[in-house]
Amino acid sequence: MIACLGRIVHDSDAESKLDDDVSTIFNSLNLQGSIENGDVFSIASKDFGGLYSIKPLYLIRPSGAEDISRVVKAAAGTPHLTVAARGNGHSINGQAMADGGYVIDMRSTGENHFKLLTVNGSPCIDVSGGALWEDVLRRCVSRFGLAPRSWTDYLSLTVGGTLSNAGVSGQAFRYGPQTSNVTELEVVTGKGDITVCSETQNPELFFGALGGLGQFGIITRARVKLQPAPDMVRWIRVVYAEFEEFTRDAEFLVSQKEDESFDYVEGFVFCNNDDPVNGWPSVQLNPDQEFNPAHLPQTVGPVLYCLELAFHYRNSDQPSTVDMAVSRLVGGLGFVDGLISQMDVSYMGFLRRVKRAEQDAKANGVWDNPHPWLNLFVSKSDIVDFDQTVFKKMSQPHGAQEWVRTVSSTVVDHNRSRWRICDYSVRHVGWDSRTSVALPEGEIFYIVALLRFVPKGPSVEKKVAENREIVKWCIKEGLDFKLYLPHYRAKEDWKRHFGNQWTRFEKRKANFDPMAILAPGQRIFKRTNQ
Ligand code: FAD
Repeated sequence: MIACLGRIVHDSDAESKLDDDVSTIFNSLNLQGSIENGDVFSIASKDFGGLYSIKPLYLIRPSGAEDISRVVKAAAGTPHLTVAARGNGHSINGQAMADGGYVIDMRSTGENHFKLLTVNGSPCIDVSGGALWEDVLRRCVSRFGLAPRSWTDYLSLTVGGTLSNAGVSGQAFRYGPQTSNVTELEVVTGKGDITVCSETQNPELFFGALGGLGQFGIITRARVKLQPAPDMVRWIRVVYAEFEEFTRDAEFLVSQKEDESFDYVEGFVFCNNDDPVNGWPSVQLNPDQEFNPAHLPQTVGPVLYCLELAFHYRNSDQPSTVDMAVSRLVGGLGFVDGLISQMDVSYMGFLRRVKRAEQDAKANGVWDNPHPWLNLFVSKSDIVDFDQTVFKKMSQPHGAQEWVRTVSSTVVDHNRSRWRICDYSVRHVGWDSRTSVALPEGEIFYIVALLRFVPKGPSVEKKVAENREIVKWCIKEGLDFKLYLPHYRAKEDWKRHFGNQWTRFEKRKANFDPMAILAPGQRIFKRTNQ
């Protein structure tokens, strides 16, 4: 591939000096891809959170694993340079940034791999670490009628980015997170070695990289398990006035056998008022169905709870069979009578539901607002306390504000900030303790996501401070919890986060990235020169 150098034409000596530097570094790295100066305006210094802007030295668009290996080796040859893989930059707290280092844009490798295989009689797909899950979905379904088993809610995330965290959605209760649904990785380690790893081949690297926050290697290829894709989804929302009833049903559903539960179970918290963004109207899937608050009991509090469920079926299934199966499952639940909303959508349409919310939010100019989000895993034993203190008090939307919906009927007001609290339970079963993901101890735990879209200004700082308070409160009260997509600053906090896995995490770092070159934006280890 011909090299393309950033910013060729300039009007100042300083800029042409920078271009000389870029040319020199490009030639010395012998890249097949391209390189650009780090620029405060480039994607490399931004992320979805919009809370930090950190300037790298160079942004590299590699052509593949060999380029990445060259960049890592070049960084290793210096006393201070670091390397951050950037997936789609959907981190909140600068995790994919490299202060004065190399940022590698993994999206440029997105098309490198796409090969269907059968391993031990089961279908798998080899995909690039830089591929977006939405592309994996589209291509797998349209070409092979197959689909990965475990998803994230939002699919404009990269394969390598979510595998470096966990990758969770409403299928995780059945299949585990995405990290439990890959059988092989190709990884460029912090020494620049290109290594294939799996449960049986270099297992320490394989399990280390899964949920490893990018600390042990850059994932350039992943082998993802597939299953036949359904054609259609019955998408259902049921509303609860009481948290105890909501959690009882959620925990019941995630504990059932495959044919005795839904194919997807999530939940969220919403305001008990008529606010179009955060209140009753935001729950209805079908605009023809109206939310009737008269169904609610008198005793109801300031927030309500919604279980979001999905039932997969094929076009060849009889409608009466689908209706019967759904009725049987819904019939066992204790939601408020009359507060049910449902619709049938294609499987692709269901999985792309957040994309539609993104399109709406972009059209209304709120998508690019800062996002002081907080994600946690909270053990079942502590979720009632969490509800009392966080859902009902600390994280109330201010002035009936802040929400983002995952349905296309979203009413968006760009002068408002919005929030969404996702809250759903999963079980330890299906999460492999050999991976680097840190989990609470309880067998069932909730994935809690406080998702805020806040206009630029003082409210952003306020929300960041509120997040800190929530974490401090969890620690002080001794809750069984872990941050998901963690973002600590102090080593002590990281040690507490990993708990008894910390020694293993440190050992893996010493083995695979001894100079702490990789993923500096996580701020776990300091770059060394040994
Ligand atoms: P980036 O943010 O670019 O990178 C994240 C970290 O991984 C960085 O440290 C980076 O250096 C490292 N990294 C990136 N690529 C690689 C690679 N190939 N190899 C090794 N390390 C790498 N998460 C869920 O689990 N479920 C959800 O439903 C979900 N929904 C989301 C919706 C939205 C709108 C957003 C913004 C985020 C959501 N997330 C969700 C969080 C998401 O998983 C993280 O943001 C994650 O970081 C993936 O994003 P990314 O691919 O853009 O990675």
